[in-house]
Amino acid sequence: MLEIKKYKFYFCPCTQDLYGDECLQHVHEHAEEVVNYLNASKEIPFEVELKPNLLTASMIQQVFNEANNDPDCAGIITWAHTFSPSKNYILGLQDLRKPLCQFATQYNEEIPYDTIDMDFMNENQAAHGERELGHIFARMRWNHKVVFGYWKDPVALTELGQWQRVAVGINESRNIRIARFADTMRNVAVTDGDKIEAQVKLGWTVDAWPINDLTPYVESVTAAEIKELTDEYYETYGLVLDGRDPEEFRRHVEVQAAQEIGIERFLVEHNYNAFSDHFGDLGALKQLPSLSIQRLMQKGFGFGPEGDWKTPGMVRLMKVMTANDPNAKGSALMEDYTYNLVPGKDGILESHMSEVDPSMADGEIKIRATPLSMGDREDPARLIFTAKTGPAIATSLIDLGNRFRLIIQDVDCKKVEKPMPMLPTGTMFWTPRPNLKVGTEAWIYAGGAHHTAVSYDLTADQMIDWADAMGIESVVIDANTNLRDFKRDLKLGEVFYK
Ligand code: MN
Repeated sequence: MLEIKKYKFYFCPCTQDLYGDECLQHVHEHAEEVVNYLNASKEIPFEVELKPNLLTASMIQQVFNEANNDPDCAGIITWAHTFSPSKNYILGLQDLRKPLCQFATQYNEEIPYDTIDMDFMNENQAAHGERELGHIFARMRWNHKVVFGYWKDPVALTELGQWQRVAVGINESRNIRIARFADTMRNVAVTDGDKIEAQVKLGWTVDAWPINDLTPYVESVTAAEIKELTDEYYETYGLVLDGRDPEEFRRHVEVQAAQEIGIERFLVEHNYNAFSDHFGDLGALKQLPSLSIQRLMQKGFGFGPEGDWKTPGMVRLMKVMTANDPNAKGSALMEDYTYNLVPGKDGILESHMSEVDPSMADGEIKIRATPLSMGDREDPARLIFTAKTGPAIATSLIDLGNRFRLIIQDVDCKKVEKPMPMLPTGTMFWTPRPNLKVGTEAWIYAGGAHHTAVSYDLTADQMIDWADAMGIESVVIDANTNLRDFKRDLKLGEVFYK
């Protein structure tokens, strides 16, 4: 499982000094109880740290700047237990650079009908206070998240936990560093784009490297290291020899073992966590990196083929956002390949020529070494499997010249009807929502790529929240999509994102 920094979140009770010490003491005790509950909840993946009651503008500014300067703090959660005049937040919000979630909850679940009096009303006025607090975000056009609900409600806690993962994605986006071995595949438009704007908007570093700067790292891997890793492959995966001589087969696999070790060394040494290559420019590499890249993706590196640098960034982002989730099913690069148009069985076969992330695998994974039918190298050894079933999202980040657009599609992943014994790649199969016809037409109208960053574990709402925080356009294709409204959304984006 990918390990990331142990981020925490500041929990700020929002109030004022109008209510007297006893009331403010209760506010803090209740906040402590809520924080303890959050920290014990399985829905909340990152630690929440209670801060003092926010009483004045200067305190708010101080705590928000503390969050800015604390590298372990991924964001702020506010709770207006009482009324908290929101002009007090203006200076703090002008400074704040960390994500903020307004947790619009209330200490008591039910109105205490028999005992409620004006003291209770003054102490428990979240319905009142959260509106005042929300207003200043709207007034300042400050992009924040609102989660409403009782603090023991699993639905509210799930949303709060999902937002924490978004906040981590916002923080980690600026740590995404992508190495491009060779350039983008000539004349392909959708995988190209403005790398400077990606750094400005998303924080991503995208650097070019000649492929032959990588090859010494692969060639210097020792025979003992290759043997050890190949042995591990042979213990982990099944083998499909396809009639090949076992020793000759193993030599193909060993090429990939050297690549896995060499590429990882290069990436770690140069501090990259994502990369791309291009099958048409492999320099001195003997095989298209296949099994090697499949394993590196599973370890948490983002990857995109044919020089695509945007998909590796998105895949890395998704892997970071879902890191430390023991129930994660997987996030990966996929490519839309072939349709099945038979009514009732319709969908899109997803794969790639070889680089399909085994994070998505369901059941046994096997190694094959068969011809690529493209390029001019040895038959690359790669991992073959079929992917898990269930709902997922597919995303594509495109450059429209004046802006980035993130296209997000809800899909339902299924098993294909029959095995595909002649197809030597990992595969996934899904039907887009609302159905193959409308979902495909909408995707094409939006300009979405054939490469996607896919996740079983993230929701469309999480990706919208991330895109909003980055200041980029997002469009969603889901069960409610109809083409008239969708095309109008695309037109509205032209106006909004200047
Ligand atoms: Mn491709």
